[in-house]
Amino acid sequence: MIREQPRADKRRRESKYWWAARARNARWDGSFVFAVRSTGIYCRPSCPARRPARKQVIFFALPEAAEQAGFRPCRRCQPREAPARNPSLELVRRVCRTIETDLEEPYTLQTLGLHMGVSPGHLQRTFKRLMGITPRQYADARRLDKLKGRLREGHNVTRALYEAGYGSSSRLYEQAAAQLGMTPATYRRGGRGMEIGYTIVKGRLGRLLVAATERGICMVSLGDAAAQLAAALRREYPNATIHREASGVAPWAKTIQKYLRGNQPRLNLPLDVEATAFQRRVWEELRRIPYGSTRSYKDVARAIGQPRAVRAVARACATNPVSLVIPCHRVLRSDGSLGGYRWGLERKQALLATETRKRLRPASAAAHRSFFPETRVK
Ligand SMILES: [Zn+2]
Repeated sequence: MIREQPRADKRRRESKYWWAARARNARWDGSFVFAVRSTGIYCRPSCPARRPARKQVIFFALPEAAEQAGFRPCRRCQPREAPARNPSLELVRRVCRTIETDLEEPYTLQTLGLHMGVSPGHLQRTFKRLMGITPRQYADARRLDKLKGRLREGHNVTRALYEAGYGSSSRLYEQAAAQLGMTPATYRRGGRGMEIGYTIVKGRLGRLLVAATERGICMVSLGDAAAQLAAALRREYPNATIHREASGVAPWAKTIQKYLRGNQPRLNLPLDVEATAFQRRVWEELRRIPYGSTRSYKDVARAIGQPRAVRAVARACATNPVSLVIPCHRVLRSDGSLGGYRWGLERKQALLATETRKRLRPASAAAHRSFFPETRVK
């Protein structure tokens, strides 16, 4: 049985970590790492670098967990080199290294357990507790990372897939496309030849990034820090020419901000995004969900004529690069719970709350009818 760690415990632990990090106490090296939101870098406790404000800092048990969350190791203190401080941390690091060195190997919990000399159950629990994901999810993520790297370097698709451990299985190829959010061939271009302008504005739900080519919007994202949003844009389009310029995209950003305040029910903005055939169908279906309404992943799967593809629909929602304009926040689990959201569940909840409130207010009821004359919601 997995017992949930009480919140107070976490707070106490993290305040101890913060104290150790501020004291640059080397005895804590290998017990945890801390990552800085604004820079995207993580460090060991003894790193000589200047400390940011506490609210910029996130703690991770392991370097691998920090990297999994998208942070890069600090060049000064090289946090990956610190040996793990206790047997659980050591076990998880060994599992990570084993998976990383042989991504082609279809490891199971049994073989991994055998390898490490522990029971599969213990391995799974320990890994999940310290990494937040299972060994299998970790292997998938590493494989995808490697594939992205190879494609960015310009390797041809077949070779990149092979080298990243996808072998020649068509199932894995489809998985790669779903995870990339596009076909590997499109990803390989990485926005080559595209010219992207973007702006970041402060809004109701934190920072809002809107990026566009001359053809339309290619990314809309929400977050806490401008630097992180800009970095994510560059990761999405590594080969594009990207510049920050408010003039071209400002009107679109304004419209989206109006939407966020609840004053713009329909975001009918031009898009410039590439998608697999499946994603295109899902995303088009999402754009049909009226303001203030929700659907389940199952509803969407049924609407596109693939009632069994519920998980693939959820993945297509998760890889939507233009949040809000393609309203993936209007899709929930069948039991009514929120499901996931790339930009944070609190934001999803806030978006839905605003939409419901605006829709139910009598003053806007007439407006709603005129915006969606063709839709009748049961
Ligand atoms: Zn450092």
